[in-house]
Amino acid sequence: MFNSKQTPVFADTQQSNTYAWFSQRAWVEIDLGALSHNIKQLIKLISPHSQLMAVVKADAYGHGAVMVSKTAINAGANVLGVATVPEGIQLREEGIKAPILILGATHTHEQVQAIAHWQLQPTLCSPKQALEFSNTLENIPYHGCLPVHIKLDTGMSRLGTDWRQAAEFVQLVQGLPHLQINSVYSHLATADSPDPTTMNEQQRRFDQAITQIKAKGIHIPTLHLANSAATLTNRNLHYDMVRVGLAMYGLYPATHLEKNLYNQVKLQPVLQLKARITQVKTITAGTGVSYGHHFIAPTDMRIAVVGIGYADGVPRSLSHKMQVLIRGQLVSQIGAITMDQLMLDVTYIEDLQEGEVVTLLGYEGNKYISADDWATQLNTISWEILCGFKHRLPRVAVM
Ligand SMILES: *Cc1c(COP(=O)(O)O)cnc(C)c1O
Repeated sequence: MFNSKQTPVFADTQQSNTYAWFSQRAWVEIDLGALSHNIKQLIKLISPHSQLMAVVKADAYGHGAVMVSKTAINAGANVLGVATVPEGIQLREEGIKAPILILGATHTHEQVQAIAHWQLQPTLCSPKQALEFSNTLENIPYHGCLPVHIKLDTGMSRLGTDWRQAAEFVQLVQGLPHLQINSVYSHLATADSPDPTTMNEQQRRFDQAITQIKAKGIHIPTLHLANSAATLTNRNLHYDMVRVGLAMYGLYPATHLEKNLYNQVKLQPVLQLKARITQVKTITAGTGVSYGHHFIAPTDMRIAVVGIGYADGVPRSLSHKMQVLIRGQLVSQIGAITMDQLMLDVTYIEDLQEGEVVTLLGYEGNKYISADDWATQLNTISWEILCGFKHRLPRVAVM
């Protein structure tokens, strides 16, 4: 059966566990073929000398970090990006050998020790942190040089050393024992905006910092700046590596980016959210539905109960606002979404059976409900929607 590590469960009729996933009340379906397609498209887009980092933090944006990482590496990704040490360890425990960069900050003795032990690669954000790292490695004791990545703040005002102090910082790290600088990078704050002014200024600062580092006679093997939006915007932003999250999962960071670099990349959504109908019933006019009776049947109607709720990550604030697909038709959700279940108006679907599949996000026929649709309704971004699906939902891999 399914475990919290989310081993891929293939929807292959030859596999003995097919029945297990068919019997699920609700699940997240991950199209590994679409994931491979997206990665190959992105590799074609970037300059031949640039590498691709597959960003798999937050359990690969809710898609399942282990199967996504393995597929990404097979499709040609060079490096994996995670946010935390445990995320990196999970990939190593599953036998993944690719370089793993930890994009978040790490400080403690335990974290440094784990990084060294599991051959993870930390981000260094400040001189203080670099000294802590070097000291801890000295005391472990540690033989060899840990590959590290220098983070510059060029305008995001998140992690990193101010770009004007880049050269001094890099020089300090270079002089420390046990540390070897693999890359210098920064992160863009507004790459998904149609107005490039701020992004251009961040790039100018990054370039200036690099010039000053070079002036000290220091060679940095890898420079990187671009997230998905920047990767889809302009090859001048690709440097030696791009760090791609959202686009790899088949979503565009902004609608104007669907016309990316002369339409060279056609992305396919990787994630679909599905659940089963658990009961169908007829209710008479005037009957209330769900907690609070916020929906009262205006006429006699048929309703369906679906085995998925807000504890699975369907936001309760979508109550009465969302539609789902059944047999390729759009159907309205009615009443408050509850913890484990929600209700639909299925009056116009003939002879609906219990056990039939409902698509909450994804395709049926020529209709498509995307994470962007939910994000728009909820006044948030698709990244947050994708990360919101809980571990109770098995991730089912399809090819
Ligand atoms: C999450 C993250 C990315 C990926 O961003 P997308 O917009 O999803 O491509 C890239 N770089 C850093 C530092 C990140 O934290």
